[in-house]
Amino acid sequence: MSEEVIFDEDYTEKLVDWDESDIGKKIPKRITKNGTYYNETVVQVFCQFCASEFIGPSREAGGFLGGHECLHAWEVSQALGREDGLVE
Ligand SMILES: [Zn+2]
Repeated sequence: MSEEVIFDEDYTEKLVDWDESDIGKKIPKRITKNGTYYNETVVQVFCQFCASEFIGPSREAGGFLGGHECLHAWEVSQALGREDGLVE
């Protein structure tokens, strides 16, 4: 009996450079400066405001969405501020 490691099809060995083929697969272990993540799923998300897309670990997808939400909220506040400034 061989003891070779069999990677389940639901897992990806990639630690960077995820693409469409990795969506839905899990990353067994991912080490970052902030901590070590286990069994994270690779997901695809997009920003509903500017249509940017992201494929990667769920934690990073959350950061992507949160970051875009913050940016676009800021843009809106700037636009509103500008309109208010034009009113004389
Ligand atoms: Zn956006």
